[in-house]
Amino acid sequence: MSRDADYVYRFEEGSREMRELLGGKGANLAEMTRVLGAGRVPPGFTITTAACVDYMRGAAFPEGLEDQIAEAVQRLEETAKGRLGDPQDPLLVSVRSGARASMPGMLDSILNLGLNDASVEGLAQRTGSARFAWDSYRRLVQMFGDVVHGVEPERFESALREARDAKGVAEDTGLDADDLKRLTERFKEIFAEDVGHELAQEPDDQLREAIRAVFDSWNGERARDYRRINRIPDDWGTAVNVQRMVFGNRGEDSGSGVAFSRDESTGAPEPSGDFLVNAQGEDVVAGIRNTEDLAGFAARMPAVHAELIEILATLEGHYGDMQDVEFTVEEGRLYVLQTRNAKRPAQAAVRFARDAVDEGLLDRAQALMTIDAGALEALLHPTFDPETRYDVVARGVPASPGAAKGAIVFSAAEAMRRGGDGEAVILVRPFTEADDVAGFHAASGILTSEGGKSSHAALVARGMGRPCVAGASSVEIDPERGVMRVDGAELSAGALIGIDGSSGAVTLDDVPLVNPEIGEDFDEILAWADECRRLGVRANADNPRDAARASSFGAEGIGLCRTEHMFFGEDRDGLVKDMFIAAERWRRARVAARVGDRPADVDVEAERRFHDALAALGKLQRADFEGIFHAMAPHPVTIRLLDPPLHEFLPVEHFEAEAERMLAEGRHDEAQEARDRLVVAGELKEANPMLGLRGARLGILFWPLYEMQVRAIVEAALAVGEAAEAPEVEIMLPLIAFEGEMEALRSSVAEVVEAIVSESASSAEFAVGTMIEVPRACLIAERLAARADFFSFGTNDLTQMVSGLSRDDAEGSFLPEYLARRLIPATPFETIDEEGVGQLVRLAAERGRGANPELRLGICGEHGGDPESVAFFHSVGLDYVSCSPYRVPIARVAAAQAAIR
Ligand code: PEP
Ligand code: MG
Repeated sequence: MSRDADYVYRFEEGSREMRELLGGKGANLAEMTRVLGAGRVPPGFTITTAACVDYMRGAAFPEGLEDQIAEAVQRLEETAKGRLGDPQDPLLVSVRSGARASMPGMLDSILNLGLNDASVEGLAQRTGSARFAWDSYRRLVQMFGDVVHGVEPERFESALREARDAKGVAEDTGLDADDLKRLTERFKEIFAEDVGHELAQEPDDQLREAIRAVFDSWNGERARDYRRINRIPDDWGTAVNVQRMVFGNRGEDSGSGVAFSRDESTGAPEPSGDFLVNAQGEDVVAGIRNTEDLAGFAARMPAVHAELIEILATLEGHYGDMQDVEFTVEEGRLYVLQTRNAKRPAQAAVRFARDAVDEGLLDRAQALMTIDAGALEALLHPTFDPETRYDVVARGVPASPGAAKGAIVFSAAEAMRRGGDGEAVILVRPFTEADDVAGFHAASGILTSEGGKSSHAALVARGMGRPCVAGASSVEIDPERGVMRVDGAELSAGALIGIDGSSGAVTLDDVPLVNPEIGEDFDEILAWADECRRLGVRANADNPRDAARASSFGAEGIGLCRTEHMFFGEDRDGLVKDMFIAAERWRRARVAARVGDRPADVDVEAERRFHDALAALGKLQRADFEGIFHAMAPHPVTIRLLDPPLHEFLPVEHFEAEAERMLAEGRHDEAQEARDRLVVAGELKEANPMLGLRGARLGILFWPLYEMQVRAIVEAALAVGEAAEAPEVEIMLPLIAFEGEMEALRSSVAEVVEAIVSESASSAEFAVGTMIEVPRACLIAERLAARADFFSFGTNDLTQMVSGLSRDDAEGSFLPEYLARRLIPATPFETIDEEGVGQLVRLAAERGRGANPELRLGICGEHGGDPESVAFFHSVGLDYVSCSPYRVPIARVAAAQAAIR
């Protein structure tokens, strides 16, 4: 006999290992049922993600699902000793989504299912509270309207406000049974008006519609956005959890709350949380009424509080991670509805990891794995300068640490627009909702006038590491009019505001932001990471200040020093332009000489000018390198010879302006010279500069330029080596595509090095290697490796060239659309495109090492600081990653996690 797929599991039948099938929430409900015992978790069942996937495929409930649900409902009715929709004593259930990965606020839940016009009376009778029964029913109508049928939530909210106003009360609790009954009637009217039919009265129909709505919400816009941002595959589907309702709104001995096994902001080992008496869970998260903290809860219900504390410890011990628990107290009895690993800001993550090891809860490797490496960046984020006094115009809840300042924006769309243009913006809202999430990404910080530590704004901001001040109730925010009022001032969009998410302060002063010191806990964690990791971590730095900072963050050398950065800056600008004009004239003279019509005077003059300019620049370069070597010795420093397109140094407009100015000032000889320079610059202008005269090509055409750089590097290293510990210097050739380039440049570099070293008393050695950043270089890696001491993958250019994506423009033009339409999983400039670029990296690493087993392998593109990419580079067997100084700690932890995994 063929059996239908098992689409439905009772909580007793599942476990946390079944996350893929039961979703995170379902697996946890099952696990909690095991760990805490059936009485602590209201009974229920989970409809699997496989059912959702089959539903999406067929646009209908798959074969067998209805029967399995009916059977599970029957079992539930037996356990719960009640019947769904029973007019005398109805069993009520909740229906909630639960995908494999946590997707907070993305998919919606429906509560109190099973109520209808008849059973509401039964509920009133049995509980002895008509108020409670009608309050439950109006919530069902509201949620069913909103979640299942998309009725504008504001329609219900305004009816609720009207009811409060009519009664003259400030809070919903001021409404009595009759008020709520009338309100329910009004809600039902709104429902019928908007939906076109009445609310289904048959509980089975309600259940079916609700399950279908949860399945459908997987493909809702908000869920899709969340998945895109968090890189969750679209084809996972969501599970649906159906669970007996327990009620926090049954009076003064009931309530709902959220609790963390440790302080969710700091990680300190004291549980924290919010509790709302006589309320359902949604009221807590909505942040509409003001909650009390766990101390308040303890004072109110000491015995239940003690039970909760014990449960938090049990769950944390069982899961080996800080827990975020939703609970409800129904007439003095504590139920746990959900537990999950707590999202936490970086410092809380670090504190927890350290304490968990001290307490013997986890070993070091396990503790490291509880940290979200990418989020550590928040630890390195600025705070307000403690030396600066500033006026605090309002205070709210310190909901997510770090300070931020920027222009006020009142909507997510505005945040994305202005933030996307690179402006620092603070998203200011009365409260936030799931639709605002994209705006969080674009904003430097978030300020709300409502809600607390577990409000949507707080949870999302903490998860993302954005500073957030929530519930600053003295701030009046009117997004419609685009104004906010605080401390007597009225501010419009664009005005400056600052927030400190660690203290809750709001200021209108322009307070300087300062970069944090890495704390002791973090140092300890990083030390563990260093014990575990195999990958080296270097930094990309091109001046002594960045080099010193990178060193303080634990960089084990410089993986990329971009020497062109030393060519910019006002003091060098004129010199550099003169040098390149002279270089080009010198090159032309040489070409002319080769073809036989050598104009000797031009040649000598061009040569002299070129060499004079190089001599002047060489002095500056040598000092630059000495500074960097001092900052980094004895660690390795990889210096890359000049790379950017020549035309970047010779903007035509500059030479036009110069020629006009000379003419205007009547300096005719100089004007003639300026015009000549303009002609040279014009001829060097390229249509595709990124594919043009840059990198090794500059070295081939203008060898004296590279020679000057090599000389400056070697002399600087020898000078520093005499005075202090010698750095290990690696000279790197950019953009090599052909074996011939490698051969020619390597031997020329070696000659210069050899000449200088042999004149000195030193025995210093200089490694010479190449960037691997052109696809062709990957394909001929074995030939390049035979002539290289090291490879450093330039994954920025490699990404650009492998997929033909302009690294300067694609992310600002069509890639967002690609991401939105999920044609690609992530921007390949941020996270390595494993299938494309990654394949070439793997191939080049293997071939390179095959030809030269001593070959050192590194990567210095932006991907070096991205945890996911770091894991890939570990798997390919590279020796080190190199990233921007601030991301060094992230890379250290990510490298350790890759090794542990
Ligand atoms: C690269 O291309 O990845 C690289 C590191 O070099 P740049 O970004 O300077 O082109
Ligand atoms: Mg490059």
